[in-house]
Formats: sequence, C-alpha cells, structure tokens
Amino acid sequence: MSRLFCSPGRYVQGAGAVREIGGHAGRLGRCALLVGGKTALSLCAGAIQPSLAVEAIPSHQEYFGGTSSRPEIDRLVAVAKTHGADLIIAVGGGAAIDAGKAVAHELQAPVIVVPTTVATDAPCSALAVIYCDDGSFERYLLLRRNPDCILVDTELIARAPVRFLVAGMGDALATYWESDSCARSNAPNQLTGGGSQTLATRALARICYETLLEWGVAAKLAVEQQSVTPALEAIVEANTLLSGLSSENGGHAGGHSIHNGLTTLAATRAKLHGEKVAFGVLVQLVLEGRPPEAIAELLGFCHSVGLPICLADLELTAPTIEDIRQVAKASVAEGETIHSTWFPVTADMVEAAILAADALGTGYRQRRTDRDPGTDEWLRQS
Ligand SMILES: [Zn+2]
Repeated sequence: MSRLFCSPGRYVQGAGAVREIGGHAGRLGRCALLVGGKTALSLCAGAIQPSLAVEAIPSHQEYFGGTSSRPEIDRLVAVAKTHGADLIIAVGGGAAIDAGKAVAHELQAPVIVVPTTVATDAPCSALAVIYCDDGSFERYLLLRRNPDCILVDTELIARAPVRFLVAGMGDALATYWESDSCARSNAPNQLTGGGSQTLATRALARICYETLLEWGVAAKLAVEQQSVTPALEAIVEANTLLSGLSSENGGHAGGHSIHNGLTTLAATRAKLHGEKVAFGVLVQLVLEGRPPEAIAELLGFCHSVGLPICLADLELTAPTIEDIRQVAKASVAEGETIHSTWFPVTADMVEAAILAADALGTGYRQRRTDRDPGTDEWLRQS
C-alpha cells in the first residue's frame, strides 16, 4: 500500500488575519460568494469586503440557512451561479464551512474557509458532512480536494465562547491515539480513500498532542479574557492545522466510533462533537490496554481544561446497562472506524471498556475534588 498525504493549498493564521483575505482571494478567483451565518458575517464581513475590494474582487453576501443539507447546498449553488461567482468564501462554524465546501465542490470552484470557532477538524478536511433537513446525519461527501485556503483570525477565535475552543481540543486529542491505532494495524485510511501513513503524519500527530498538553490550560484562560496570546495561537494551530492534517491523513479509530455510539443516546445531543470524542478516546485507551501512565495523562489533561472524563459529564447521570450496550453496539457497526484497531473489536469489549473508563474518570474526579484547594481552605477555617 502506498503512503498518502493530502493537504490544503494554504493555511494562514494570526490576529487580524481576516483583513488579509483579498491577497489570497486574488490568486483564486475574480468574483466571490461570501456564505455564513448572520452572527459570523456580522463579525467579519465588514473586514472581508473592503479587503476584497482592494483587489477589485466583487462579492455577494448570502446568509447560510443553518443546516448543511442537500436543498440548502443546491440553493447556494444557484445563488453563486446567478452572481457569476467563481470563488466561495465560507465563514463560520462546522456546518457553514461544510456547506461552503460542498457548494465549491458542485461548482468546481476554489474555496476559502474562514472559521469563527476552532471546535472541529472541518476547516482543513476534504470531507463535508451532509445532514437531512431535520438535522440528522445523512452522509459524508468526499470532496475533490482539500480547501484552497484556510484563514484563521485568532481575534475572532478569542471572542468566541471558550467551550468551542475546549471542544476542539477534545477532537484534536483523538488524533494522536487514533492515528497510532491505524499505524499499528496498517489499515487503509477511510478518510482519504486508502493509503498508509507518511512520517509527516506521525510527526504532526505527535506535535499536536504535545501542544495540547503544554498550552491547553493557558489558551483556555486566554480566551476567557478574550485575549490573543502565544498559547492561544499554539492551540488554534493544534486544533485546526495539526489535528486537521494528522487526523485526515492518519485515520480515525475507536474514539470517533464511540462518539458515534454516544450520539444514539438523546441525553448526549446537547454535547459538542469534541466533548463526546474526548470521552471516546478515554474508552479507546482502556479498550486497547494502553499503559496506565497514558491513561492518567489523558485524564489529567481533560480534567484541567474541563473536557468530559465520565458518563455523568455527558449528561448520562443514570444510564442503564441497556443504554451502554446500545452505545457499544452502534460503535462496532459495519463500516465504523473502530475496526481499524489492530485486533478485532466486539460490542462486549466496548461495553466493558465504557464501564471501566467511566469508573476511572469518576474516581479521578472524586480524588481531585477531595484535594481541591477550596475544600482545604474551608477545612482550615472551620
Ligand atoms: Zn472529529
């Protein structure tokens, strides 16, 4: 099997980077369709349009309907044709980005992605998630190529709710362990349509993981103050570029399949993708019999930034054994990436790993709470 590495054309990141968009757009097209939600466009259309005007690129602004569905994509394709757009600029979170990438795919036009949150791997990937009109998952659309340009303005990210940044760290956390699992089994990568990992993928996955451990807490604190700091820049790059590249080229394994299993329980639907993935990775490490130090490191990191480490953190306060069994069964459905693990995985094994991971996380939380300095302070005063 040949080694394969796919990547976007250009990645730009920095405070105020959105004001540089005209220079990048000028290389790609002559007339732009700017697509995004009302909030996203109100945050940055005022900076994007003057920058495009400097390069003499006319643009039409169109609000995104909110769901990356077939009818919405068809509507946006028609709008682009009406205005003669030969370049799509997608602004916002995962759904708007997926819709923008799908529109560009239909038109065979280039796309610039401007994320206003860094909660998922959507910005860099050559994949768009298509939903039904009711918001349920329909299918993955494999795109002809990765986005032509990703432009991340860290001032926008610092102003977004901190929960998105933390969820993005949960999704990025999966990258190292899932790609390691795929490397061990040498399974063909489902996300790129085949191919095995390059040394570049392995290196990116490792530096992604190390960056999270080193800068995660400081970046979270920075966003709580709406501040752009070197720590935030490091985590934005880890969540978007490092995780995006190493996840797509490294492949998914247990973490994302357990996430998919968790989505079958209505109680978890209020939780973000990366929040469920974080617990999925913990289950994966238990399932794979990873060293206790690795599990302790993961628990410590998740606890320090506020990512879920037990079922109660996912709003599953009193799950029945049938609930757990349902999650486990869905996790090992045909086509699930958990089958990229280097040994055969059954629903019984996943069920056991979920229960054990939950016990580990609950116990860890309990011990940390017992040693909480706030509690010590209270004890000294009483
Ligand atoms: Zn993900």
